[in-house]
Amino acid sequence: MGLINRFSLSRDMGIDLGTANTLVYVSGKGIVLQEPSVVAIDQDQKTSIAVGEEAKRMLGRTPSNVIAMRPLRDGVIADFETAELMLKHFIRRVHEGKALVSPRIVIGIPSGVTGVERRAVIEAAAQAGARDVRLIDEPVAAAIGAGLPVAEPTGNMIVDIGGGTTEVAVLSLQGTVLSESVRVAGDELNDAVTQYMKKVHNLVIGERTAEDIKIKLGSAYPSEDDNEATMEVRGLHLLSGLPRIVAVKAAEIRESLTEPLSIIVEAVKRTLERTPPELAADIIDRGIMLAGGGALLKGIDTLISHETGIVTHIAAEPLCCVVLGTGRVLENFKQLERFFSGPVR
Ligand code: ADP
Ligand code: MG
Repeated sequence: MGLINRFSLSRDMGIDLGTANTLVYVSGKGIVLQEPSVVAIDQDQKTSIAVGEEAKRMLGRTPSNVIAMRPLRDGVIADFETAELMLKHFIRRVHEGKALVSPRIVIGIPSGVTGVERRAVIEAAAQAGARDVRLIDEPVAAAIGAGLPVAEPTGNMIVDIGGGTTEVAVLSLQGTVLSESVRVAGDELNDAVTQYMKKVHNLVIGERTAEDIKIKLGSAYPSEDDNEATMEVRGLHLLSGLPRIVAVKAAEIRESLTEPLSIIVEAVKRTLERTPPELAADIIDRGIMLAGGGALLKGIDTLISHETGIVTHIAAEPLCCVVLGTGRVLENFKQLERFFSGPVR
């Protein structure tokens, strides 16, 4: 009895259902799962053969009957059944071996997800055993997780650069004052690298390689130490059709990222222009907070600060802000309950 009680106390969950990564927080424990939002499906059998990290390794490497897909790719639920399957899989994995006491679940979802999709996310979590499912908009959860004082009457700006979407929001006492979501984030940066390699080096590379280049060599703003940085990239030579290794410079990759980055910067500027003056004054004092995996791109804080004239900070753990935010909401449920967004909007 005592055991069951202890488990039942620690089963409440906060989930970040991201376009690139899903994270799960269990109250009293912290983050217990962090996996890519990828599912590999056998199309003949119509069954999933891998979920998460294992499925991500299969991206671009599957035989013809298997597809590795990202059900939330562009910040909307592109493939409903698969999203549901993935969510259930992760919830059950966290439950594994424990007494299954129906938990309360708080789920952070991209703000562009429609009412119908919201209901379906709630339904999927309920089917996986949740007793009480609440949704929270990702920018709100990210701001809470980044430690911004969202409950105070002061303006806070959060910019969450994920895989599929960048969400810019100004928050204050009443929750979200204004927000904007653009479908340009980490994935588009990867695409820009892919196109650059093809156009300039005649080299065809896969999505994983492009992401690798972006993370290791990419930057948003010139800095002295990356002037000499180079990387050997493996791919298929467009003309000969044969595998080839090409050396690329950091400066080239920075150049290739300019266009998608300018779309992100414009979204931040537009939101600032629409911000009521008192809140804008607060943001000038407090600065802009960056979250999401894209905040880890070298020099992105300098770029945004340079373009807007406002000090820009990177959250302590950008990839974990949303899930930490859902965790804080779970643990201060009554106090933070008003931040939940309804299923219909
Ligand atoms: P989502 O919330 O959409 O699931 P995440 O916040 O998990 O997205 O961020 C994923 C994105 O962050 C990916 O596009 C990934 O390439 C990018 N990313 C992760 N680490 C880095 C890094 N060190 N530098 C640049 N981009 C990064
Ligand atoms: Mg996210």
